[in-house]
Amino acid sequence: MDRKKLVIIGSGPAGFTAAIYAARANLSPLMYEGFFSGPSGGQLMTTTEVENFPGFPDGITGPELMEAMKKQALRFGTEILTEDVEEVDLNKRPFKVKGRNTTVLADSLIIATGATAKRLDIPGTRDGEFWQKGVTACAVCDGAMPIFRDNELYVIGGGDTAVEEAIFLTKYGSKVFIVHRRDELRASKIMARHATKHPKIEILWDSVLTKVEGRDVVESVTLQNVKTKEEKKKDAAGVFFAIGHNPNTAFLMGQLKADDHGYLLVKSGSTYTDVDGVFAAGDVQDKIYRQAISAAGSGCMAALDAERWLTANGLT
Ligand SMILES: Cc1cc2nc3c(=O)[nH]c(=O)nc-3n(C[C@H](O)[C@H](O)[C@H](O)COP(=O)(O)OP(=O)(O)OC[C@H]3O[C@@H](n4cnc5c(N)ncnc54)[C@H](O)[C@@H]3O)c2cc1C
Repeated sequence: MDRKKLVIIGSGPAGFTAAIYAARANLSPLMYEGFFSGPSGGQLMTTTEVENFPGFPDGITGPELMEAMKKQALRFGTEILTEDVEEVDLNKRPFKVKGRNTTVLADSLIIATGATAKRLDIPGTRDGEFWQKGVTACAVCDGAMPIFRDNELYVIGGGDTAVEEAIFLTKYGSKVFIVHRRDELRASKIMARHATKHPKIEILWDSVLTKVEGRDVVESVTLQNVKTKEEKKKDAAGVFFAIGHNPNTAFLMGQLKADDHGYLLVKSGSTYTDVDGVFAAGDVQDKIYRQAISAAGSGCMAALDAERWLTANGLT
């Protein structure tokens, strides 16, 4: 069985940045870029324009940015396997990493498998319908797009994230509606107060989204009051799901410490997990920032942490 100094699992901005740094540090990293788990390149492969990644004053598409990162990782000698990791064994060293078709041993590991935004399966919101044509799951990423400016926007959810996204969107929309299925927000009291007092935010209590319609982009939403069952169609330019994310950690089978939502826990200011030699980077350990640049930054940290750990343990 092949033994590697460093195996990187995941091929988003965190994984590729870790690979670039590790390959330049002569660690000969092996990356499992995924296959059924999602496209090589991660979440940005599902978006069009990325306008906030530094270095691209005119913006760049998500797929172009990720293709460039992959090329850069390959240029320094990263080996890439197009398969998912199905299992890891962290109980013995070197760690055993079992992919769909291959198994390798790894002295150190970087987990960079990202997180998947939760979406509701509502007519009009699916891929091929209005997903990314007015329906999205990231206000910070997409809120500034021209289609949302001075238009009515709908945020689906009732927790802190929904309120944060709604407040953020007030910079762009003429009015922001929070659609919440209950009669009380789950958000913290202080966040709930910000939302209820904000002049541009209206909360639609006891309501659910039942349909999204339009021609090329979103033009209307249909909402149902869960108590009266009454339905109303309203003009809308944007629908923002803010109902949380699922960190992609099932293959770890609980071997690393995680919080209540499944995000991996790292030692503050580092990428060290609770297992020596295993590092976590990107959205899989970050429920706060969730941006390509912050994922890339922590990928860099993970490679440097891994390199120093391997050196300190005589494994380089
Ligand atoms: C629609 C959309 C638009 C966005 N727009 C922007 C934007 O404009 N600007 C911005 O900064 N951020 C944006 N984001 C957020 C940004 O994409 C994420 O913060 C970033 O991609 C996180 O990077 P990551 O490397 O942690 O993980 P991800 O990008 O999620 O990549 C994780 C990778 O790991 C792979 N993987 C998962 N499980 C396994 C496994 N078991 N084995 C092998 N591989 C596995 C997945 O297939 C995936 O390729 C957007 C997100 C979405 C969904």
